[in-house]
Amino acid sequence: MEFEEKRKYLVESLINRKIVNDQNVIQAMLKVPRHKFVPQGAASSAYLDSPLSIGLGQTISAPHMNAMMCEYLELKEGDKVLEIGTGSGYHAALCAEIVAPEDCKNPGHVYTIERHKKLADKAQKSLEDTNYGDRVTVIHGDGTLGYSKEAPYDKILVTAASPKKVPPPYKKQLKEGGILCIPAGSREWGQNLYIIRREGDEFKSENITGVRFVSLIGKYGWQE
Ligand code: SAH
Repeated sequence: MEFEEKRKYLVESLINRKIVNDQNVIQAMLKVPRHKFVPQGAASSAYLDSPLSIGLGQTISAPHMNAMMCEYLELKEGDKVLEIGTGSGYHAALCAEIVAPEDCKNPGHVYTIERHKKLADKAQKSLEDTNYGDRVTVIHGDGTLGYSKEAPYDKILVTAASPKKVPPPYKKQLKEGGILCIPAGSREWGQNLYIIRREGDEFKSENITGVRFVSLIGKYGWQE
């Protein structure tokens, strides 16, 4: 089966399982070539709904998790997004496809931070090869500090597991009315996925579901 056909199958199964509803997320999932973000030897598994290893002990999340997070963030054209944990670059591309689709009037942008230089460089290359290079900026550094240079953000997406206390820079760098999506809890025993909305100076937190992510390591995260 061709990659495009496998991708369609995967998205159909996510729709049937009621994981995705939002047309923007569905269209982006249909468009972004996930097989170009996973290690070469794993391309044939790119459209299975499971996480995959991307080297250095890190993983790209399962597609249903990528889709869910995009949907809970209520991403829309024009949003300025900060992602923590670039990994393969796939989730950043997915966000870019929603906030800055080709030829749109009001393109948004995705800033994404990765602590491993090797992964940041590889993700940058995959993003360029798939034509997302202009819509995504990859930054090498400690994402627990956020990225104040481009703040505030409409949406902040954290794709590594934070301690229960969310790194303070995220709340500071979120726009009023903005949404933060973050897995937080225990380092070893799994986490909960939280959606935190900023309403004025108040933050309203909703616990979505149990999850398991690799650790967020840095000043306001776990120690190495
Ligand atoms: N969103 C990614 C998957 C992320 S895996 C994708 O689509 O492929 C989590 C990533 O977070 C790993 O690559 C890990 O190195 C990175 N990470 C962990 N702590 C970090 C930190 N403080 N700053 C930036 N990246 C971090």
